[in-house]
Amino acid sequence: MRAALMWTINDFPAYAMLSGWSTKGKFACPCCNYGTNSRYLKHSRKMCYMDHRVFLPMDHPWRSNKRSFNGKTELRPPPPFLKGTDVLNNLQDFENVFGKKRKRSNDGPLEKRSIFFELPYWQHNLLRHNLDVMHIEKNIVDSILGTLLDISGKTKDHAKARYDLKDMGIRKNLHPKDTEKIVREQSLQKRASQ
Ligand SMILES: [Zn+2]
Repeated sequence: MRAALMWTINDFPAYAMLSGWSTKGKFACPCCNYGTNSRYLKHSRKMCYMDHRVFLPMDHPWRSNKRSFNGKTELRPPPPFLKGTDVLNNLQDFENVFGKKRKRSNDGPLEKRSIFFELPYWQHNLLRHNLDVMHIEKNIVDSILGTLLDISGKTKDHAKARYDLKDMGIRKNLHPKDTEKIVREQSLQKRASQ
């Protein structure tokens, strides 16, 4: 019998283990790879990955829609596709260290040379890893329902998120308001008019 591995189907954490591409931090999106647009939300204390309008056709109306997105138009093309041969090139002279935490010589997202590159054809495979949507769907549905039903602890619309919107300078109507300051100003105005 002869067998060939065509691709893997896995969840997002396993993606990192099987491909060697870190799915955490600045470059967590394997599709955007080195062109990942990430931003740290300092109030929510997590990374967020935006700017996926780059994958839309150049004349798509959403690309010029500032209000619904990050306040800017999007004119950039999609980031280049990461080929297996590129990964292998980037990992030349790379020593896999197992069992202990690898000392990071660079800040790159490649953590190891995937064992699958031992297969002679693997670097030429166009699609090496697939995401099994089951877990992703569940998490997204939880977040959407939690936000729509305003379930405390589940909703993504909380004060910290609104401070992050303020930092980004978008969605002004959702920015948190300093009610004490407003009350103070109103009483000052009242006093002045009396
Ligand atoms: Zn991406």
